[in-house]
Amino acid sequence: MPGEAASARVPCRRVLLAVLLACTSSTATAQNADPYAAARRALIAELNDEARADAGTAARIDRSAIALLARVPRHEYVPASERRNAYENRPLGIGYGQTISQPYIVALMTSLVEPRAGQTLLEIGTGSGYQAAVLAESGAKVHSIEIVAPLAVQAAQRLRRYPNVATRHGDGYYGWKEHAPFDAIVVTAAASSVPPPLLEQLKPGGRMVIPVGSSFFTQTLLLVQKDARGRARTRQILPVRFVPLTGAGESALRER
Ligand code: SAH
Repeated sequence: MPGEAASARVPCRRVLLAVLLACTSSTATAQNADPYAAARRALIAELNDEARADAGTAARIDRSAIALLARVPRHEYVPASERRNAYENRPLGIGYGQTISQPYIVALMTSLVEPRAGQTLLEIGTGSGYQAAVLAESGAKVHSIEIVAPLAVQAAQRLRRYPNVATRHGDGYYGWKEHAPFDAIVVTAAASSVPPPLLEQLKPGGRMVIPVGSSFFTQTLLLVQKDARGRARTRQILPVRFVPLTGAGESALRER
């Protein structure tokens, strides 16, 4: 479906069992405190199943990344009309033709960059603010850029609870020079190729995760690692489907 950021795979193994387990173990008090607590636990159980199934593959997700997702209330990052779907393992519309990525993809991108306290990170495509929040839960300092002004404003409000997140409205193609270099860069919109300014702003030893491809149907999630001498090595992780990177930098490339 155009406008959706999703992986080509839609993992949904053992969802029913996970839902049942989560429902029976939640107390009435916990449900009153957070009506979505059981649904969130079910999603986390599903992701943990995925982690077991994918262990050893390039697209594996880590327990530590899943633990970060467990701390972020996804229902607070989606429009009211999508709140009841917030803990389904799929992308959801957030308005302006954009999407909040599938939780599995957020977990995978987080696993690939291995965020840690003390690091400086850059995200391109703040969108709902959910991925930025997940990265911020690691204790790293997160800088996030969004090109659609109303989304940038809304996400900035949601992310106010994180003193370690800075947001900006602008074209992320050019990165955020004032805060560079970055230990890791997460690009959440598909580019036609790796933007040179982003590669430049990555630290030696740093990691960038970015969907690259010419259309909605031929994108690959790439992990770009810069070695200590500044040479980049690229690994293909899996086929994905993200909304396109827009803006002047990217369109100049596409028109060539
Ligand atoms: N990380 C987001 C996913 C949002 S989808 C989340 O967790 O919700 C990708 C986002 O990238 C969209 O909001 C889109 O507007 C934004 N985007 C596209 N091109 C961009 C650019 N050149 N610079 C910054 N943001 C961009």
